[in-house]
Amino acid sequence: MELFQIKVQTTKREEIIDITDKIQDIINHSKFENGLCRIFVPHTTAGITINENADPNVKIDFLDILKKLIPQSSNYRHIEGNSDSHVKASLTGFSQTVIVQNGKMLLGTWQGLWFCEYDGPRSRTVLIALER
Ligand code: ZN
Repeated sequence: MELFQIKVQTTKREEIIDITDKIQDIINHSKFENGLCRIFVPHTTAGITINENADPNVKIDFLDILKKLIPQSSNYRHIEGNSDSHVKASLTGFSQTVIVQNGKMLLGTWQGLWFCEYDGPRSRTVLIALER
């Protein structure tokens, strides 16, 4: 296994950043050909998912509906004031696995890897493991 990490600087409390190209760059530079690319987010208020990278409105709709379903203010007990961020992160998930063949991630035509910030702005880390 080869382990890499990238930094993601977020600029808003809630934000989705497409990190597909950054991860493909790591695969290209490592000359990794065939196997699995595992992506892990080691944070409790950010996550990673795969969804459409073509229409930017999909990201906006995604954040809007999460905001409606999980309001920032409620009768939460957690004193940090970011209970909604923790719930959103767990619903999104903290890892993804993508198959790599001939040096390319086998994502669908419209798919991209979304880094999901729910308690920014912050400097975040994403771990990438390449497994043969
Ligand atoms: Zn918290």
